This record gives sequence, structure tokens and C-alpha cells, in this order.
Amino acid sequence: MEVVKRGFVRACKNHSYLSYELIDNILSPLCANHKVSKPSSKESVKVFVSEINDSLNDLGQSLVFIKYPIKGEEYLVYVKTDATPDSVSNTGLTPEECQYFSKLLDRIAAEEDCNIPWNAAYSELLLQGTSKTVKKSRMQELLQKWTQMGYFMELDERIFLGPRSLVELSFYLGSHHEEHIKNCMLCKCLVLWDTRCGSCNIQFHRECIHTYLQRRDICPSCGNLWTTPLRRSTDSSQ
Ligand SMILES: [Zn+2]
Ligand SMILES: [Zn+2]
Repeated sequence: MEVVKRGFVRACKNHSYLSYELIDNILSPLCANHKVSKPSSKESVKVFVSEINDSLNDLGQSLVFIKYPIKGEEYLVYVKTDATPDSVSNTGLTPEECQYFSKLLDRIAAEEDCNIPWNAAYSELLLQGTSKTVKKSRMQELLQKWTQMGYFMELDERIFLGPRSLVELSFYLGSHHEEHIKNCMLCKCLVLWDTRCGSCNIQFHRECIHTYLQRRDICPSCGNLWTTPLRRSTDSSQ
């Protein structure tokens, strides 16, 4: 099993973020080759991942599941535990290119719903105050690379914070953009694009508030009756 785990971690590093479908596509041949039984249910995949994390955490790395409402999917994200916007982008890039990553991240995070129109990502305003500019074609190349790595997500001609940023840079985002980016009161993880209380407008993960409302019918924050209808947004059946 150890060799399967090592192979799986390598695949997670390469893909950065993985849907359950991709996880299954990776584990099927890996387990077959090494003649071990494949973790097939979501629960068994989670147990498999938590066993891997026991040894990964010492190396400053982690595999984290996150629900991502923009795609209605849950992803497994590979993260370095002490990452900052500067450390994320520093491999083989010029200082201006690194700055582009930080400025783009901040630009998106400063929006109420943490997304911008795609063409705003190439705005020269982003690089104001830096000594050199980055060519537009280079910006497109970098954005494509960072999107593949899960730091950003493109959907309907808009660019959103990606699943990897939400996990790996959650401390940075929560402390530098605390006006929009907050943790869910119930699970203490970052919550975006999810369900809101009709009275106080505070945001919760759908699953978290769904579980909470099975015992009570009031908002955990303001204490008023919960009125927002709940749909399960991240069911695997979608
Ligand atoms: Zn939550
Ligand atoms: Zn409320």
C-alpha cells in the first residue's frame, strides 16, 4: 500500500486539485498494478487520504478536501502548509511576474463575490507601481498556468478564486480581506459563494447549516428564525 500512497501523492502534486472522478481514475490503475484493493467509497477515500496526511504533514504538505460551490463539486487539494502569495509564485518567475500573482489575487479577493471579468485580469492597472510591466501574452500564459494549478478558476468569462487559493492561502485571504472573506462559524473553514441568513446576511456552508438546522431552527449568528431555503449544492449526484 505504501507504494500506492506515494504514487497517489505524486499525482496530487501534478494535478493540484482533484475531483472524485479524477481520484478514481488515478487509483484504479495504481491499485490494480500493485494488487491492493482500491478505496472506492468517498468515506474510504477520506480514510486513505487521512493516513497519507499523517506522514505528509511532517513535510509541510497536506491533502485537503474542500467543497467548491462555483463548480458544485468537492475537490481534494494538494497544499503546502506555510504558503504565502509570494512563495506560491516564486519558482522561475521574475519579481514583476510574482507581483502579478499577488496583485491579481488581491484584486479578485477585494470583490464582494470574489470574481472579476476575465479581461480585468490583464489590466495594466494591476501592475501599477511596479518598475517593469509584464506583456499581456505573458499574463495570459501565467494565468492559464495558475488556473491549471487551481489558484484561479475560469467560469462564464469570469475569474474566481480557485480551490487551491481557498485552502492554501486561507490565512492570508482571511486576514487581508476580512471584509468579504470569513470563516464559517460552524466549521471554522473559509466560506464563499454559499448560503446566507435572510436576517443578518452571514454566510454558512450549506452542509454545515443543514446539519445545524436539524436540531434548531434559528440562525447561529443572529438568533432569528432561519428562512433561506436550503438546496444541497455539492451532492455528488450532480
Ligand atoms: Zn462550514
Ligand atoms: Zn442570521
